[in-house]
Amino acid sequence: MKSLIDGARRFQDTVYPKMQSLFDELADGQKPHTLFITCADSRIDPSLITQSDPGEIFVHRNPGNLVPKFGDGVTSEITSIEYAVQVLGVSDIVICGHTKCGVMAGLADPDSLVGLDHVGDWVENARETGHAGGHREADTDPSLMALAGRNVVLQLDNLIGYPFVRGRVATGDLNLYGWVYEIETGTIHVYDPDEKRFVSLASIEE
Ligand SMILES: [Zn+2]
Repeated sequence: MKSLIDGARRFQDTVYPKMQSLFDELADGQKPHTLFITCADSRIDPSLITQSDPGEIFVHRNPGNLVPKFGDGVTSEITSIEYAVQVLGVSDIVICGHTKCGVMAGLADPDSLVGLDHVGDWVENARETGHAGGHREADTDPSLMALAGRNVVLQLDNLIGYPFVRGRVATGDLNLYGWVYEIETGTIHVYDPDEKRFVSLASIEE
């Protein structure tokens, strides 16, 4: 805890004053351009990996960067998505999975979830990646990259099932993106819906 308190003091004393004008502006309201949905994993820092300033990205995090199917009731996910789309009017939504994800590991090896009843239920939201129980390439892919990618695509499918998302995508006001962040290298892989595969961000022309 001491490191957090020391960090908060440093932020207050030296960082905040340097960014005073930005925070003055943000005190009047937020207008983020992007809803960024990612895993709760401590190794993912959305602002760091996208080099975003405060006020730029509206972040929703949960284990496995999952988006429950529309109709599953009031979840924190639908609340964040509805607010970001309907009130803040974001123009982009990114679902960002990552390598070495514990939820993907649980999906690949359900035995690892024994005794974790709630995590087990939550992982059901990713069940359709087709890799629950049994054999798979995930077993030979220690980074779980392939599974993380398939999960992102599945969650994008769930996201487009939200009527207010589908409506704004249809009018061209909202774009959806699937990313996988590779912890081992810092590389971000972006889903190409035409090619139906992930390509590294470095290979995409700006
Ligand atoms: Zn994760």
